Amino acid sequence: MSKRIDVEMEEVSCPFCGRAEYRLLHRENPFEMVKCSSCQFIYLNPRPTGDALLRFYQGYLPEEESSVEAWQKMMESIFRNAANLIEQYKKRGRLLDVGVGFGFFLSEMKGRGWEVLGVEISQKAIDYARDVLGLTVQEGPLEKAGFSESEFDVVSGFYVIEHLPRPMEFLQECYRILKPGGLLLLRYPHTTPIKNLLRFFGIENRLYDLPAHLSDFSHEMIQQCLEKAGFKEWNHLIGGYTLPREPGKKIASSVFGTLSEALFYLSGKRFLLPGVSKTVLAFKG
Ligand SMILES: [Zn+2]
Repeated sequence: MSKRIDVEMEEVSCPFCGRAEYRLLHRENPFEMVKCSSCQFIYLNPRPTGDALLRFYQGYLPEEESSVEAWQKMMESIFRNAANLIEQYKKRGRLLDVGVGFGFFLSEMKGRGWEVLGVEISQKAIDYARDVLGLTVQEGPLEKAGFSESEFDVVSGFYVIEHLPRPMEFLQECYRILKPGGLLLLRYPHTTPIKNLLRFFGIENRLYDLPAHLSDFSHEMIQQCLEKAGFKEWNHLIGGYTLPREPGKKIASSVFGTLSEALFYLSGKRFLLPGVSKTVLAFKG
């Protein structure tokens, strides 16, 4: 997405371990993704300030009705998969979706009988979720929403964690507001292996979606973050794939999606193909 941004940038230290040393990994002008020399966490540095990011997200989601519908179609199977997955562990309860966007996942869960609530920072998305879908959505970010300890059975976040300036604070807050035995579901992209591959072939691309994505997580790094936030157990899976509208992207997504699902099941649910989006379920013990 190539939206303009008033870029006031700031230099930051590693969002995972706090160290300042890093090496340049990839450049998408004028932005640079770097890798922490200490813990290997991959993050945008320097990055837009908090205020610049808030302004950016007011225009991040598409507005036209056809784009909203396309978004819903693209995400439909991901949301259905996630809902079925959650219900393997919990039949009903109180669910919070962070970064609800237009609210399609919340709407699915509400339809299944869940008590649902959302947090979102984009005003246009909040308006759509409230006015068109009739959902209850609070203005985010999560850390400022003021939820009580142990309030939710499930917290979900689809394509959210890679956008956050402080992913560890977000995970710690998710842990705090979950009931004992509660469940966190995250869906996130993993872009670096594809960037490495395309660079090998000399192909220019803007796959990191900068400056929207502030971090890029491997499944190993997500697990380290979850552990540091207090989660004791997790279950990682491919969790389906999106169906973009453009034919080329649609084919690529279904080929890689099908391949990664096949390899995951053939390996006895052990092999997670790098470079494709994944879903992780984490449990509060
Ligand atoms: Zn680090």
